[in-house]
Amino acid sequence: MLKLYRFLKPYSVLVAGVLTFVFLQTLGDLYLPTLMSDIINDGVMQGDTGKILQIGGLMLLITGGGAVCAIIASFLSSKAAVRLGTVLRSNMFKRVESFSLHEFDKIGTATLITRTTNDITQIQMVTVMIMRMMIAAPMMAIGGIIMALQKDRQLTLVLAVAIPVLGCVIALIASRMIPLFKLVQVKIDKINLVLREKLTGIRVIRAFNTVEREAGRFDAANADLTNNYIKVNRIMAFMMPSIMLVMSLTSLSILWFGGIRVSRNSMDLGALFAFTQYAMQIMFSMLMLAMMFIMVPRAQAAALRINEVLDTVPEITDAETTKDVFDGRGFIEFKDVVFSYHGAEEPALRDISFSARPGEVTAIIGSTGSGKSTLINLIPRFYDVDSGSVLIDGVDVREISQEALRAKIGFVPQKAVLFSGSISANIKFGNDDATGEEIMHAVEVAQAAGFISEMDGGYEHEIAQGGANISGGQKQRLSIARALVRRPEVYIFDDSFSALDFKTDARLRGALRKEIADATVIIVAQRVGTVMDADRIIVLDEGRIAGMGTHRELLYNCEVYREIVSSQLSEEEYI
Ligand code: ADP
Ligand code: MG
Repeated sequence: MLKLYRFLKPYSVLVAGVLTFVFLQTLGDLYLPTLMSDIINDGVMQGDTGKILQIGGLMLLITGGGAVCAIIASFLSSKAAVRLGTVLRSNMFKRVESFSLHEFDKIGTATLITRTTNDITQIQMVTVMIMRMMIAAPMMAIGGIIMALQKDRQLTLVLAVAIPVLGCVIALIASRMIPLFKLVQVKIDKINLVLREKLTGIRVIRAFNTVEREAGRFDAANADLTNNYIKVNRIMAFMMPSIMLVMSLTSLSILWFGGIRVSRNSMDLGALFAFTQYAMQIMFSMLMLAMMFIMVPRAQAAALRINEVLDTVPEITDAETTKDVFDGRGFIEFKDVVFSYHGAEEPALRDISFSARPGEVTAIIGSTGSGKSTLINLIPRFYDVDSGSVLIDGVDVREISQEALRAKIGFVPQKAVLFSGSISANIKFGNDDATGEEIMHAVEVAQAAGFISEMDGGYEHEIAQGGANISGGQKQRLSIARALVRRPEVYIFDDSFSALDFKTDARLRGALRKEIADATVIIVAQRVGTVMDADRIIVLDEGRIAGMGTHRELLYNCEVYREIVSSQLSEEEYI
């Protein structure tokens, strides 16, 4: 409840409105049976048409007023809930955006999606319910009992038996239902996870003929959720008839004992009628309370999961006082850097020290898994080092605001990611203010002009979600163009030439060299050909620097480099 309260606090005015109108409506509901009894006693029994019309008119008025109140309450409560949902969703989104990659690794994408959609919808639904029932249910229960007592004291003995019986039935059902409801969210997470993996990996799944196995995996998750719902529904199916049974037995007893009392003239017909209605109201209000007991824990589970995200403090945050003024142009320095991923036994990087100067090309080469991507991910501060430091223009990256830091960097990730939208919009992603000419120039340098002009629509050609409708090499070149229009001081290419043929690779690097001559350039590559002419080559091996120098120097003094070279080039090529 407290968790839910935290969400509702900003809407107290709307909530107060809802509560007021629900209060008025319930007041009317409680008064109606009494009027009914009057109409029977004073009107129908006496044959007094005037009285019938008078009381009947009043009843109509109260019913009408109740309807208006109900409409207003429902309008206000929907409004509060929808606003709450909107704000929650946007808060979640903002928080998730500020997560560092560690938090994504930790929480998981599938559950983040469920939490932002399904869980928030849950909260929204339950808030509406709680606002409507929180006042109505207890008021009806207590008010009903008081009114019933006024009508006839002896008949309330029937209620004294019926209410505990109904309470027991409800408690029994709720205690079985609540744990099942709590499981639902977890199971939906699981389905999302499997579905996401399946959809993103559909090509691999087909290629390896594992469609059936994957379908089985999905079916298992699906069946799990279905079974859970079936259990819930079985209990529900049992719940309605048993509650109806208790209620009908109660009405029967009231009519039975009430009938006896009426025939003995110790009770009038109107009171009996009103009493039956109050009994029903009391029992319905108990049902409402039960619903709350069942739904609230479910929403609470959702609230907990949402709070977990909102309360996760991103590991990487800006320092309190940031030094965003630099007297340099992207001079990068690693000093004794050690870094390990969460939960990994061994550090992914150890004792990394080197510097990369403006106007120079620094290349990093090494086998897969040697830590190349990990190393360059430290520069835009996607992760923080365990010890040592990464400096840019002499300032530790942890002391710079993330925005200022990343503004200096043009990053071309290993896995080229494009967004749905036109080609020019995708390139503009690097720099919103880029003019048409700048875009054209960047595309020219990135050797992408050729294939763009062949596409229908050219620059306005729509890229499908995830860049599914263009080739890997085309994606790489577009993401290079995207980094180029940014005109940053530091360029980082993470294996960005791997999908290009040798000729395009060579031409692109030739054009780049002229274009970004005064910037700091870091190129990660697998191919010796790509790094051969770099000013400095760093050879990474299992997270350590195995050698550093020019191609020629390394050939003489670095065994690891020699191995890489000899596995790729013939002897005449590399000397
Ligand atoms: P490279 O880019 O040289 O191929 P990486 O830097 O991607 O290598 O990976 C270096 C090591 O770190 C590998 O052993 C890999 O398993 C591990 N690693 C990479 N990313 C993560 C991650 N997000 N969480 C845990 N370990 C990771
Ligand atoms: Mg890599």
